Amino acid sequence: LRRLNAHLESARPSATYRVMDRVAAHRAVGTSVISLSAGEPDFDTPKHVREAGIAAIRAGHTRYTQVAGLRPLRESIAMKFRRENGLEVDWQDTLVCSGGKQVIYNALAATLNEGDEVIVPAPYWVSYPEMVQLCGAKPVVVPCGSETGFKLTPQKLADAITLRTRWVILNSPSNPTGAVYTQPELQALANVLLERPHVLVLSDDIYEHLIFDGAAFHTIAQVEPRLRERTLTMNGVSKAYAMTGWRIGFGTGPKWLLDAMEKLQGQQTSGACTISQHAAVAALTGPRDFIDSSRAVFQKRRDMMVKLLNDTPGLGCEVPAGAFYAFASCEGLIGKTTPAGTVLHTDEDVAMALLDEAGVAIVHGSAFGLGPYIRIAYALDDASLRRACEAIQGFCRSLA
Ligand code: PLP
Repeated sequence: LRRLNAHLESARPSATYRVMDRVAAHRAVGTSVISLSAGEPDFDTPKHVREAGIAAIRAGHTRYTQVAGLRPLRESIAMKFRRENGLEVDWQDTLVCSGGKQVIYNALAATLNEGDEVIVPAPYWVSYPEMVQLCGAKPVVVPCGSETGFKLTPQKLADAITLRTRWVILNSPSNPTGAVYTQPELQALANVLLERPHVLVLSDDIYEHLIFDGAAFHTIAQVEPRLRERTLTMNGVSKAYAMTGWRIGFGTGPKWLLDAMEKLQGQQTSGACTISQHAAVAALTGPRDFIDSSRAVFQKRRDMMVKLLNDTPGLGCEVPAGAFYAFASCEGLIGKTTPAGTVLHTDEDVAMALLDEAGVAIVHGSAFGLGPYIRIAYALDDASLRRACEAIQGFCRSLA
């Protein structure tokens, strides 16, 4: 008899959490570390949202909600999809989960069977392939390098689809590359999918509002309405409203799918945290200046980081169009030796040596399915970012 579930046993723990554990271990012994590894905004949740959470507690909103979520929240989610994404959605067409992550997991768990395939363009968010694996299915990783801006092309998509394909996962703006799909690019992918009606589409739009240089955000269900009946459009408040700890995500999609996800959730969490749901209503219906100001702050930081990284010997970085990550090639560092005598064979070696010898935590690109790269999250104040870049530059210059 196995002690653990076989699928869980073969899954890898999240690489980002592993780096965070190493950072904590360094800090516990008094070493100072600048962490550019976390996937969360460094801002506080806007005050009116925090106040709404407190008000919910004071008003006694401390019991279970309906499994699919509070009606006022579902109404504000439907309004968000209509207003921001041009998707004609009623409140019944929405589902609230404990974070965007759970929307994805519920969708996969509700639909996948042994041997099913899920197309995951790489570089990918670390959780996609692992979640697919946990559901007993097979992630089909499609490498999408810098030559296509780290984006999936229609040809690559067409080549990856088989009769066993259940889902293709799209993520724009992307974690870890910040790549953003344009409307024509999404239309071209949609054209491939229109000819393959057995494939479902998961659109992870969690970084929707972090998009720079005035570029417009597009999501595939809006670009190609004929895909709506098989697209799950997923989003949440974590990144847009600096609410990672509140754990509220949501989605809209075909009724059969939302029903199945709700059925699963009913046996699992019974629904998202009631207090957080009330706070999320305030986020979605309240003033929007927080979104604009955080976008402006991140764009300024991006410009600074890309310049500093490109001024670093051995690193090279394209300008990311969104999210808060820079994905830099570290090919120029591979094969070199650190002052402590470590030979850098892989990007993971680079990440470990940067942490141990320069006190800067980043995540290696191969954790996201593409090496040799490093992912730098610039969700920190300017002074810390500058200090981190100086330390990275010093480290790179010290290599022999
Ligand atoms: N999707 C992507 C690409 C992410 O980077 C994250 C968080 O890091 C999520 C989804 C999940 O966000 P949450 O569960 O906090 O809503």
